[in-house]
Amino acid sequence: MLFSTYSMALAVFVSMSQPSVSPLPSSRPSQAPRDEAHQRGLHQVDATIVSLQRPSPHTLRVGMHLGDAGDDPVWDQANVAFRVYPDLQAPTVSRVYTVRSFEPQARRAEFDVLMHGGDSPMMRWAAQAGIGQQVRLTGPRVNIVLPGSQGRPVAIFCDDSGLPALYSILQRWPAGMTGLGWIASDDVHGLAELPPVPGLQLQRLPLQGPGRDLLLQQARQLVAPERYVIWGAGERDEMRALRKYFQAEQGLDKADVAIAGYWKRGASNTDIDAERQSAYQKFTAAGGQLADWDDLGIAL
Ligand SMILES: Cc1cc2nc3c(=O)[nH]c(=O)nc-3n(C[C@H](O)[C@H](O)[C@H](O)COP(=O)(O)OP(=O)(O)OC[C@H]3O[C@@H](n4cnc5c(N)ncnc54)[C@H](O)[C@@H]3O)c2cc1C
Repeated sequence: MLFSTYSMALAVFVSMSQPSVSPLPSSRPSQAPRDEAHQRGLHQVDATIVSLQRPSPHTLRVGMHLGDAGDDPVWDQANVAFRVYPDLQAPTVSRVYTVRSFEPQARRAEFDVLMHGGDSPMMRWAAQAGIGQQVRLTGPRVNIVLPGSQGRPVAIFCDDSGLPALYSILQRWPAGMTGLGWIASDDVHGLAELPPVPGLQLQRLPLQGPGRDLLLQQARQLVAPERYVIWGAGERDEMRALRKYFQAEQGLDKADVAIAGYWKRGASNTDIDAERQSAYQKFTAAGGQLADWDDLGIAL
């Protein structure tokens, strides 16, 4: 069971990576059960919490010391994700988070937990987190990065869950790249923290009521979408619709659209992972390869 959970963890990481992402070399042994194709480059880490902040009511910011695993240069790339295990008594329950910032010398990574207000494994973890505690995780794995633009502007669509990813991408913004972006969020402070980038205009879309499909509505208003490359991270069903809009309706090339689902409205990620695992097993049984796994393509 643990084996397949870790395998799926990696399958998800890989499915959301871009073709430009190179394999992750690592000489460090992992204590986790390994499948060579799936586990390559992942460390199992017992990190130590070294700081806890509440930069806004929306966010718990966690600083952690990664120990020797922090020597892996992948932690320092744009939009790197990892799996955190919020309850060691329930080792099959995990959640994916983003390295918002990383200090290589200190081997220190920071991530933001959106306090979405429900009763969930990560909200319970956040409520009891304390400095000096250990937190188990597997990673790092590069998640969706900006598509190669060849001079075209980018159009960005994300919600609160994608803010840390966007922050890390903006920190490493390609010189000369321009674009537009919309962030569906009530976290005014979170947006103010984003590093300004010349030529990139970001706009906040305040959540209205349940805040559904704000990004999709905005995408439909983008003039001449075929001139853009697209980056998006947020609620799974909205991101699926966004990808369908750009690829199926507007005819953008697959390589020009980097969109990932980060959470699903009304569903626990534990259930999503179980469904994903079942779908993935059928996919591999039918001869599918990990590199061809399309996470957003499956109905979960
Ligand atoms: C690659 C990747 C990177 C991610 N990075 C981050 C990150 O840096 N920071 C971050 O906060 N999240 C991030 N997420 C999203 C995070 O993994 C999910 O929000 C996760 O479901 C939270 O777990 P939970 O235990 O709190 O809620 P779950 O048990 O999964 O869900 C319980 C309930 O809470 C709701 N819920 C879950 N997440 C949200 C949300 N974001 N907004 C509103 N309602 C929600 C669900 O719909 C469900 O009803 C990332 C996800 C992926 C795939």
